[in-house]
Amino acid sequence: MAETIKINDSTWRFEDGGVRFFLLCGKEKAALIDTGMNAPDAKELAEGVTDLPLILINTHGDPDHISGNGAFEEFYMSPKEEDNYRNNGGKGKIIPVNDGDVIDLGDRPLKIIDNPGHTPGSIAILDEKYKVLIGGDAVQDGNIFMFGRYRNLDTYISSLKRLKEYDGSFDEIYPMHGTIPVKPELIEKLIDGAEQIQSGSAEGKKVDMFGTEVMLYKFPYAGFLCEV
Ligand SMILES: [Zn+2]
Repeated sequence: MAETIKINDSTWRFEDGGVRFFLLCGKEKAALIDTGMNAPDAKELAEGVTDLPLILINTHGDPDHISGNGAFEEFYMSPKEEDNYRNNGGKGKIIPVNDGDVIDLGDRPLKIIDNPGHTPGSIAILDEKYKVLIGGDAVQDGNIFMFGRYRNLDTYISSLKRLKEYDGSFDEIYPMHGTIPVKPELIEKLIDGAEQIQSGSAEGKKVDMFGTEVMLYKFPYAGFLCEV
């Protein structure tokens, strides 16, 4: 069962093995951000923490972020993510969210920022009140999956450059994998690493990932798993 950890009076994280998801509470409602990999009870976990009406927002539709989606009839997700989500067996009704949309939990507006590259419809969520960016899988210090269908390194780099336009509006980043929190400076480093891979100057080594040979580019601040 995922472990419930309080971050502050209105924010929790759930540690679900190698992945985490979040609960943000406003004055009127609460939002679960993703539902983990082995947490079909994600909704119940959230309801154990808050009595507020609960909504779900997915950063993207990879299998390690949607395990508890089945408990929700509808949820917020980028429409560009639907193909990936359905392909992973995802059910339910998608309420589309697009770049610049704001979901207000009551004195806690959450701004949606399109953040494609890791997947076509990845989003980041800016929690303006707490100056936190929930970056999905794009900004983290673990190994970022950039191999296989739906991934696009060029798009990923453009997205990170766009995130930098929000410099100053967040002090910390909450990633779904790896260390939490990470500092905004990580974005610049990830751009640098991804550009080295793009230009062919980065040195990688072949590793096995679920029976597929992929290229691991390991930098001091994070890794990227790419096509061989
Ligand atoms: Zn993930």
